[in-house]
Order: sequence, then C-alpha cells, then structure tokens
Amino acid sequence: MTSYTESEERQALRREVAKLAGKYGREWFTEKARSGEKTTDLWLEIGRNGYLGINIPEEYGGGGGGIGDIAAVCEELAAQGCPLLLMVVSPAICGTIISRYGTAEQKARWLPGICDGTGTMAFAITEPDAGTNTHNISTTARRDGDSWVLNGRKIYISGMDESDHVLVVARTEDSRTGTVKPVLFVVPTGADGFEYRPIPMEIVSPELQFQVFIDDVRLPADALVGDEDGGLVQLFAGLNPERIMAASFSTGLARFALDRAATYAKERTVFHAPIGTHQAVAHPLAQSKIEVELARLMTQKAAALYDSGDDVGAGEAANMAKYAAAEAACDAADRAVQAHGGNGITQEYGMAGLLVATRAGRIAPVSREMILNYVAMHSLGLPKSY
Ligand SMILES: Cc1cc2nc3c(=O)[nH]c(=O)nc-3n(C[C@H](O)[C@H](O)[C@H](O)COP(=O)(O)OP(=O)(O)OC[C@H]3O[C@@H](n4cnc5c(N)ncnc54)[C@H](O)[C@@H]3O)c2cc1C
Repeated sequence: MTSYTESEERQALRREVAKLAGKYGREWFTEKARSGEKTTDLWLEIGRNGYLGINIPEEYGGGGGGIGDIAAVCEELAAQGCPLLLMVVSPAICGTIISRYGTAEQKARWLPGICDGTGTMAFAITEPDAGTNTHNISTTARRDGDSWVLNGRKIYISGMDESDHVLVVARTEDSRTGTVKPVLFVVPTGADGFEYRPIPMEIVSPELQFQVFIDDVRLPADALVGDEDGGLVQLFAGLNPERIMAASFSTGLARFALDRAATYAKERTVFHAPIGTHQAVAHPLAQSKIEVELARLMTQKAAALYDSGDDVGAGEAANMAKYAAAEAACDAADRAVQAHGGNGITQEYGMAGLLVATRAGRIAPVSREMILNYVAMHSLGLPKSY
C-alpha cells in the first residue's frame, strides 16, 4: 500500500456502479420496501455486470479482485440511495469463506451463483441467547454416519427469503461445555426441518431479517465448509470483510444523506437567502463531510491491508473503520434530516428512514461497544473486559 488515492481502475469501477445504481435510485428503492417487493432487478444487473462477484476468483465466475473492490461497489450503491445489505453477506462473507476454505467441488457448486446473483447465500451466526457473545452459540452439529444433523436457533438473519442457501455457524456437539469449536455448513433454505419467519423491523428496506429454526436438519458430509478442526480462523476470514463492507455500507449511506442535504440547503429559502447560507445549517454538514471522509480513508486502509494478506493488521483497521463509519453515518443522517426541517420526516423526502438504517450500523454486525472493547484490549493493551 503506497498510495493514499485509489487506483484509476477502482475509481472507474465506482463511477460505473454509481451510474448503474443511479438508474434505479432512492425513490425506486423505498417504493420496493414499502410495497413489500424486492430489489432483485438491481441485484441481478450488478451480477450480470460482474460487480457482485468482483472479489471472487475468476475461475468461479468472479472478477478476481479484492475486498477493496467489492467494498467500493457496496459503497457506491448506498451512495445512490440503494444500499444492498446482502452484498455484505453473500459475496463478502460467504464468498470469501468458500473461496478460501471450500473444496474445488464446493467452489464450483456455490460461487458462480453468488457471483451472478442467482444463488444468493445468507449467513447465520447470531443466536437469541448468545447475542454478541458468539463463543456461546448453541447450534450444534452431530455426526451421524456419513451425514451431519443440525439443531439450533438463529436470529436477525438477513435475506433468508432471497437466498437458496445459508452458511450456518454451528459448534460440534462434544464441545458443548468446552471451548467453542465453530464449524460452518451450507444449508439449503428449503431443507426438511429448516424454517424461518420475518422479524418486523423499523428499517425501510426490501431486505428483511428473520428468525431461523433448525430442527434435526440432515446434511450430507460435503455441506461442511473447511476443516472440522479449523476453528475460529476460518470464521474470521469472513468477519474482517464483513466489517469492511459494513463500514462501506455506512459511508455510502452517509454520502447519500449529505448529498441530499446539501442540495436541499442550496435551494430552500425561508429568510433572505438559501438556508445553507446560515452556518448553523452548513457547519454540521461540513463536519459530517470531514468525518465521513476520515472513515472512508480508514475503510480503504483496512481493505488494502486485508487484500495484502495482513489479517492481523486488517482486523484492527476493519474494527476502527466500522466504528468510525457507523458513528459518522448516524451523525450525517441526523444532520441531513435537521437540514430538511419538517420535510426531513416525510415519506416524500425519504430522509427519516436513514436514521434507523444508519443506526443499525452501530449495532450490527458487531456493536460499537465490542469494537471499543477490542481496541482497548488489543490496541491499548488494557485488560480484557468481557
Ligand atoms: C439489520 C440487522 C441485520 C443483521 N443481519 C444479520 C445476519 O445476516 N446474520 C447474523 O448472523 N446476524 C445478523 N444480525 C445480528 C447482529 O450481528 C447482532 O444484532 C449484533 O451482533 C448484536 O447482538 P444482539 O442483538 O444479540 O445484542 P446483545 O448481544 O444482546 O447486546 C445488547 C447490547 O449490550 C452491549 N454489550 C453486550 N455485551 C457487552 C460487553 N461485554 N461490553 C460492552 N457492551 C456489551 C452490546 O454492545 C449491545 O449494545 C443483524 C442485526 C441487524 C440489526
């Protein structure tokens, strides 16, 4: 990593994705959300154009790029008002883990569909009782002859209704009371014993979250991705990309909010001049612009470290980027709503929905408190607090 600017190729990618997403736009996205429809058209179009699997090896239908590329795609979609949460999950988490740890046969079976958008894969780690403490998950995998039998519950799993498969994080049964031994399985969402129900959320998005019920779901031996004893390393391969993607999702939303707010502040006049003339309106937006650019820089650093193979360095940077991006996005959305006055809370202007969408970034995929715990312990050397 020798430069503070992105390559011309990456910048061109951003322009192309922005142009494509701009054809759809925020109004199209919110209309889909409010009518209970899906964003499949956009999803498949970014798949056809090679953006969805841009981080996946070319031999499996991908673009052979890195997390920096897929993060740029994710950010530009959000910056056009079309944030696609499943990008974080399907190509970045599942795509990365399968590319790194799947067998040649598993890669050939699942990656092409992830790349072209016809085989979206969800990711399920969160459980009702374990919550943030993922070491405590109780979804268990038991060997039965040549197959595996899975039992457990998952919560807040995004996009179950749009996915053919879900990558489930479980633990092997004999480790129930000992150290967690996470194991990963690709489970068909239509499998016997597998059910999911939507959780009513206040987020204005066509992408929904689900409760998942796994009761004696029987899987063939080759549903197991990676080594049974591979442990946390295999899981973390997907979690750093997840944080980098979540950061990009947040900075994209923040850019969208600021863009709309600046446009509005230039046009709306209630005293003698546009409201953007007043520093009380302009300064908070300028402050957010700075905070968002700083978060973007850290996100790009995290992606560059990850793509260079430095998993440890990427871990710290990805946590910091995700924290900074979520904070910047929450403030940007709030300030953008304020600049709109009453219009900021109307459905017509569609700004208030950004408050919840950006707020989710402080909670998921890892909460701000857990990032602060991580930085206190790993970056500052303070005692472990949890
Ligand atoms: C929109 C959305 C989409 C999601 N999609 C997915 C998905 O696709 N797949 C998936 O597996 N999960 C998904 N999640 C789940 C998400 O990862 C969890 O919500 C998140 O990890 C927090 O877990 P929890 O909700 O159980 O909160 P809890 O663990 O109950 O935590 C509650 C609060 O306590 C704080 N806290 C807990 N322990 C500590 C501590 N030791 N120190 C300081 N503070 C602490 C937390 O930071 C948090 O603020 C999604 C969540 C949302 C909101």
